[in-house]
Amino acid sequence: MPLDRREFLRRAIAGGIALSALDVVKLFAEGPAPTRIEVDPAFYKRLDNDRTQCFVCPLHCVLNPGETCFCRTRNNVDGRLLSFAYNNPCVLTIDAIEKLPLSHFLPGTQTLSLAVGGCNLRCLYCQNWDQSQARPETLKNFEVTKEKAADGAKKKECKTIAYTYTDPVAFYEYMRDVSVFAKEKGIRNVCATALFIEKEPLRALCKSIDAFAVALKGFDEKFYDKVLGSQLKPVLDALVTLKEEKSWLEVVTLVVPTYNDDLGKIREQCKWHRKNLGADTPLHFGRFEPQYKLQELPRTPAETLEKCRAIGFEEGLKHVYIFNVSPHEGNNTFCPNCKAAVIQRLGFKILENTTKDGVCPKCRAKLPGVWR
Ligand code: SF4
Repeated sequence: MPLDRREFLRRAIAGGIALSALDVVKLFAEGPAPTRIEVDPAFYKRLDNDRTQCFVCPLHCVLNPGETCFCRTRNNVDGRLLSFAYNNPCVLTIDAIEKLPLSHFLPGTQTLSLAVGGCNLRCLYCQNWDQSQARPETLKNFEVTKEKAADGAKKKECKTIAYTYTDPVAFYEYMRDVSVFAKEKGIRNVCATALFIEKEPLRALCKSIDAFAVALKGFDEKFYDKVLGSQLKPVLDALVTLKEEKSWLEVVTLVVPTYNDDLGKIREQCKWHRKNLGADTPLHFGRFEPQYKLQELPRTPAETLEKCRAIGFEEGLKHVYIFNVSPHEGNNTFCPNCKAAVIQRLGFKILENTTKDGVCPKCRAKLPGVWR
């Protein structure tokens, strides 16, 4: 029978169990949780002259000792690559799962959202730039170990933990460890990301992340380069990889006036989506609100989003949504077979869900998704 700590110590002190020096350190070193961890050696290389090269995302940062990487979370410390985004979220809040956005994954449930400072993109219209464009150690942070995260989710009756707000690729190691632990405790995990990540770390992550809300931010390499400081091709490749895995996937595109609202490109994107991700994978078109370095632009007109949604349906996609505009019928889930509005929403709030385990109450068609 396993001993509790008190009994273990009692017997140890009585001489019944020999304590090694390491045991003593483990038992009594209960100070603050560590906020740094080595990057998985499978995902970085040690180069000559103590340099390191990271392979978590396609930027493949090469760092000299003492340098910090592009995403501001990983540092070369004496020839080892350490992440400083660990146990220290700057965001800890409870959200509706619909906010990710996820409309076909446990609708109407709440999620415990976590984010750590840093990001591997440079979006000019970032909604959370004060956290994403900062080093974690410069922010006001909570101390949340994987145990505390899982415990907090259970206590607050959250079915999931969400890795969101900043891009979780920048806090990959923390997300991985929390999600593995939470899954063991019966809590599922969801991730909102731009998916600028290499294949192997992504495949490893799919073992513990149950659903992804992927921001495919446009369908134009120049837009990715100039407005996001990123690249489109690796994101498309990663989406195809993700589709091969078992995690649930929904795609979201924020439509930014004059930057990525070309309807020809939207049609190209929808065609690509159908061919590579399938007609059943939901697509959300979102309203841009003036933010950060694009304050001079207007918010996206609802009519633009309606045109994008219509194109999605014309190209054969079965579930095309509008978010950040409500009330709007594009917030609702429709049965693709009989066209009944089976889940009615007001923004992120569910007004009525008439499905039972994702089955349409009228025609009995099964909707794609994870319903319980
Ligand atoms: S994850 Fe960060 S450190 Fe790694 S390659 Fe990308 S930007 Fe560089």
